[in-house]
Amino acid sequence: MHKNRINILGTEFDNFTEDQFHKYLNEDLDNHSNKFIVTPNPEIVLSARKNTRFSNIVNNADYVIPDGIGIIKGANNLGTPMHGRITGFDTLMYLVKTANDKKLKVYLLGAKPEVIKASADRIKREFTGIDLVGYHDGYFDDDKKIAEDIAAKKPNIVLVALGSPKQEYFINQFRDLNPAIWIGVGGSFDVFSGTKKRAPKIVQKLSLEWLYRLLKEPTRIGRMAAIPRYMTLIRKEKKNR
Ligand code: UDP
Repeated sequence: MHKNRINILGTEFDNFTEDQFHKYLNEDLDNHSNKFIVTPNPEIVLSARKNTRFSNIVNNADYVIPDGIGIIKGANNLGTPMHGRITGFDTLMYLVKTANDKKLKVYLLGAKPEVIKASADRIKREFTGIDLVGYHDGYFDDDKKIAEDIAAKKPNIVLVALGSPKQEYFINQFRDLNPAIWIGVGGSFDVFSGTKKRAPKIVQKLSLEWLYRLLKEPTRIGRMAAIPRYMTLIRKEKKNR
């Protein structure tokens, strides 16, 4: 799958349409393949630049998808345009719907206890085709014990919401215990469970989801400082190329 990758400041993104991506995932599920999806945004691209171990894990994942308009803008500015944004949240929703249709086994890991419980309840209520084989919150000490529990339950899909880089380290370390689609979904359970609201469709269309999140959670301002820093690096990289 590494054929058509676009390098943005050291992170190698897959350049395909969302439809194409969904086709690959369908095939992977039918074949019981072991696949690892990462969904970097500009903040993650910057942290990968400072952390070689993390960067290697990201670049060796099976799918590296552009989560955020910043990645698409960066690609345009560098003269290597990409098909478009594919968010972690939309991928989570696609996997959940597909698991429901195909009657697959799913495991949920991460987020606060009440958030993961509400996410599991939503699955049981709305996606009755899914065999929810297990779920656990993201605040645990014994990684190995959790990984063994996942492996014993043999899910087809493992959704991991521990934040970055924790979720990528966890998946990288334990994915070989069980062939599945493994994806790090960051704060997605907070939205999936209804605990936090996603931006309205129009705001998403205008690519202003980041602003919506900032207004809802002003404490994110520190993390968002990554964006201007990222754009400055993109401009420098463009001059160098
Ligand atoms: N989290 C967790 N365990 C931890 C740290 C974080 O389960 O040790 C969860 C946290 O509850 C939240 C998610 O990981 O649901 C990270 O959310 P964040 O908003 O940072 O992710 P983003 O979507 O911005 O990547």
